[in-house]
Amino acid sequence: MDDSFYQKNLENSQNPTLQFVELNKCGLGKNSSKEMYRKRADILMSEFSGAVALETRNRVLNHSLNCWSNVCAVWNACLESEPSAFRYSSCDTCEQRVSHVHSLGVNHKILARKKFGALEEALEYHQRLYKVKCQQDQCPGSCIVDLVVDLHIFIELDIHPELTCKASLRCKLRDFPTNLNFDGVSYRLAGVIERIPGHYVAYTRRTNGQWQEASNIKEKIVPSHGGHEIEPHGVIYAMKT
Ligand SMILES: [Zn+2]
Repeated sequence: MDDSFYQKNLENSQNPTLQFVELNKCGLGKNSSKEMYRKRADILMSEFSGAVALETRNRVLNHSLNCWSNVCAVWNACLESEPSAFRYSSCDTCEQRVSHVHSLGVNHKILARKKFGALEEALEYHQRLYKVKCQQDQCPGSCIVDLVVDLHIFIELDIHPELTCKASLRCKLRDFPTNLNFDGVSYRLAGVIERIPGHYVAYTRRTNGQWQEASNIKEKIVPSHGGHEIEPHGVIYAMKT
């Protein structure tokens, strides 16, 4: 782990997925990979137990989980306790409440027109909103809603310029802004998730700006580069110190 600030937060986290990342941060040798896959399966099974299919093959009972087309759902479930932001709603009639914002959305039309370099402009993020209708049942009140960003921010992509457009917008890794600002809090580009037919691939951007590709259909993590073209389905930014 080359980001000491993020690393320190991982070590203190009670979230099972972040603990798993922390445990495996140096990569594992051949003998440990079985254990790593078992732990990963345990985490996914606990979050998606209703979606697990059972099948007996060669007299072995297999548990399979189809996460296809659902990378945002996996992020939201596995990082429920470590959300992208906290939403504080103060109602003028009932009470103050805090909820978790797991991922941020974007305006697809802005990205279709201006491409991923305009990600910050396209983000559906407002630090403070006034006069938001209270979401408590039968409360007629109006709320002030504050959004407070946290350790990492997941932005859901899979951009379709038009509703009728089947193909997702493509880009190069270097097209993403290397930094985003959220009202004075600075974040660095840390990773991008790509969809290829039947599979997701993760690209990590190290603190020195170099890209690496992690895909479990390849034997090991391999170097990548900013000119590599992908169909992005999510991007991750990490808080800077
Ligand atoms: Zn209310």
